[in-house]
Amino acid sequence: MSTASTQIQSLTASQFDTPDAFSKFCHNDGKPHGGIIDGKSVRGSMNATFETIDPGSMEVLATVCEMGQDEVDQAVQAAHLAFRGNGVSGWRDFPVEERCELVMKLVELCERDRNVLLACEIRDGGKVSELAEGDFAQIRATAEYFCDVAQRIPLGDGSKLQVADNIEGYTYREPWGVVAGIIPWNYPIVLTSWFMFPALLSGNCVLIKPAEDTPLSALYIGKLAEEAGFPPGVVNVLPGRGELTGQFMAEHSGIRYISFTGSPGVGQHILRTCDRHGTRVKREMGGNGAAVVLDDADPQLVARMIGRHTNQHFGQTCCTIHRVFVDQKIADDFIDAQREFFTDLKIGYQAEEGTQLGAVINATQRSRILAAQKETVTRGGQAILDGGIAEVDGRDGYYIKPAIYRASPNINCNPDEVFHAFATICPVSSPEQALELANSTPYGLGASVWTKDISRGVALAKQFRDGTCQVNCHNTIAYGLPYAGQGISGGPGAGVNCEETFTDYTELKAIYVADYPNE
Ligand code: NAD
Repeated sequence: MSTASTQIQSLTASQFDTPDAFSKFCHNDGKPHGGIIDGKSVRGSMNATFETIDPGSMEVLATVCEMGQDEVDQAVQAAHLAFRGNGVSGWRDFPVEERCELVMKLVELCERDRNVLLACEIRDGGKVSELAEGDFAQIRATAEYFCDVAQRIPLGDGSKLQVADNIEGYTYREPWGVVAGIIPWNYPIVLTSWFMFPALLSGNCVLIKPAEDTPLSALYIGKLAEEAGFPPGVVNVLPGRGELTGQFMAEHSGIRYISFTGSPGVGQHILRTCDRHGTRVKREMGGNGAAVVLDDADPQLVARMIGRHTNQHFGQTCCTIHRVFVDQKIADDFIDAQREFFTDLKIGYQAEEGTQLGAVINATQRSRILAAQKETVTRGGQAILDGGIAEVDGRDGYYIKPAIYRASPNINCNPDEVFHAFATICPVSSPEQALELANSTPYGLGASVWTKDISRGVALAKQFRDGTCQVNCHNTIAYGLPYAGQGISGGPGAGVNCEETFTDYTELKAIYVADYPNE
């Protein structure tokens, strides 16, 4: 094994001791957490609550109220009022500098309470600390990037055009008004920031619908938004199940724009629902990421790099590498090295020192993953590591072993996103064959090529159908470059984290003004 290969390891946990402030927040004086609407905690007219757990220990962390139709109505009304202002200036009228100031104040409060938010990611979200810390840093990174964009891209009147002798025209850009972010459970802090900051900075009032498995960070950020001084109604948080709270939001015509991140099936359903009443929707959805390994790559080194990306958040990352196409000349060595990498992963509780593969988020995911492992074999995949339930001493939790399979070009044994430390490895005879197989999926989120020959890698990477194409890296995301899915992985809209993300949260109108006609 080369020296470099031993240095590449999966994201790993440091010991994380739950801070008292997190326990106190969870306990909430013995009351269930309400939603946050118009600056107030709201219990919910359905009188329904749900528990959020630590998936690695099954400990109940907090009880949360579920928001119903009435609360969605209330939140939309409150947000409309906050947007327009009630006799005083509304959020839409705030100078951009003041919006930026409030956003950066919120970032400072998040940083003050870093440990609580890390606990939300680690305990509620089931993440190892190395990943949670990286996620936490995205709060500031997103806010700073979009504050800069907001100060560069003006809203209001565009430049004038003489349309006819007596008619001039110009564009007019304004925020939508009330916009909603529907967030999945796998990256709660990152995805809440990616939604909330560009939406707020472009002048919208927001409704945040966190996933039912991970509501705590959005509720905490909502509380900090009040402390930062956002006017009531500008930031609202509506916890609840997707098929209820989320569905009520999708059906509400008062919400002008929805930013959805989640699975393709739910995204398609929301798009159809919103289309009935004209709410715009943009969707960032799942992938079935591919990696193409060329014959000049060092199989041991690249197998470990790819293993690291397959196991990022235990494979519960949207652009996880789940399909590998490796040149047949190095395939056996690559497979041996991947077997070794995944066998060596330390399976354990996510808050304990050294853990690299923790529990998956919930029972439904566990069943889906175990079913997919069986299905892969039924479809002709040969198990290299066959997965199954993992036992972790002293912990109840949704633990599953990694699974990797040898595949061949003539069988499609891995058609759907599995969302675990799960991959098929298919030996191929040429880069062209690898590319064709990598592209033979309706998904299109992220793919990578691994080679010493950079220009050959770039030429191949440009031919992926995916929105994010990488050479010798994967899961790299930068502010200023769009992160967007093609095919069933996303759209419409420009994706996240670029200037167009900011303008997606605005409406562009054309204004025509003619001289008053002569009698
Ligand atoms: P999901 O689609 O089940 O749920 C996502 C959100 O939608 C949750 O808040 C859920 O409550 C809500 N929801 C469910 N049904 C709804 C309905 N009928 N109406 C309105 N809202 C509804 O996804 P998940 O399992 O939470 O997340 C995992 C998925 O998200 C994976 O497919 C993953 O790849 C994808 N994802 C994509 C990106 C990206 O940037 N492209 C990022 C993270 C996750």
